[in-house]
Amino acid sequence: EGTALSSSGEALIQQGGRAGADPLLKVEGAVMQFGGLKALAGVNLDVRPGTIHGLIGPNGSGKSTMMNVLTGIYKPTDGGVTLAAGAGSGKRLDGLTPSDIALSGVARTFQNVQLFREMTALENVLVGLHHAFHGTIFDAILGTPRRRREEREARARAMAILDFVGLGSLAQVEARNLPYGKQRLLEIGRALALDPVLLLLDEPAAGLTAPDIAELITIIRKIRDAGITVILIEHHMDVVMGLCDRVSVLDFGHKIAEGSAREVQADPKVIEAYLGSPVAD
Ligand code: ADP
Ligand code: MG
Repeated sequence: EGTALSSSGEALIQQGGRAGADPLLKVEGAVMQFGGLKALAGVNLDVRPGTIHGLIGPNGSGKSTMMNVLTGIYKPTDGGVTLAAGAGSGKRLDGLTPSDIALSGVARTFQNVQLFREMTALENVLVGLHHAFHGTIFDAILGTPRRRREEREARARAMAILDFVGLGSLAQVEARNLPYGKQRLLEIGRALALDPVLLLLDEPAAGLTAPDIAELITIIRKIRDAGITVILIEHHMDVVMGLCDRVSVLDFGHKIAEGSAREVQADPKVIEAYLGSPVAD
């Protein structure tokens, strides 16, 4: 069954490979209007399967808005979002609820950590798993032998996910007692519990120390290598340079550049957009 994480993503890679494949995610003419402000002013985005796709831009350029549109938190004013559901066919995501989008295989983390602070690391991942597959944890514990077997399997899978993000030895620690860098990794683990084909990370390196960032980079690379496509919003240019196969740059709701990390970093339009608005925090 492939890795402990996902077989669906690997299948997509085998179908298409990294370069030249049909996009896994296609955004066409996305507009998000807040009163008189167009946070997204008609953005097209093609995200190829098996890649890490960077989404960068100065503060207020529309990155988080795009992520909220992709995950159904905002319904776009105009435009469409399609997730490839296999060769030739696609599933429209715009208009679906956040929960239905998650169940379609799109998972995310938030710019600010949102964990269940009183629960252990293991329980936080189990919540993700139960959200994905069946009722509640309480059903599982109190229920039938079949439920109890499912619960054992869920725990084994949750442990595999914790090992994958380097938190295996911290499974029983409450989230609030984990160092901040580990909390961010736990958020990623909980998102992985949904068995996503596409993982959206909103500034995962924000507030991390250099060793934390090095660990994060290793784990994001492992996620891509497990066949999961990643969209990465990130302010740290070294993280973007080190990880992203392709980068799109937003400015005032418009996509102003796209290419390799090296190409966009040298693009005069991008340099101008960042003037007076520093890249790093
Ligand atoms: P980024 O993540 O690139 O820093 P955002 O997507 O958060 O930028 O914001 C883009 C623009 O949209 C900003 O001007 C922001 O103030 C505005 N915006 C974002 N969300 C809302 C909202 N819910 N209501 C009104 N304005 C919003
Ligand atoms: Mg943001």
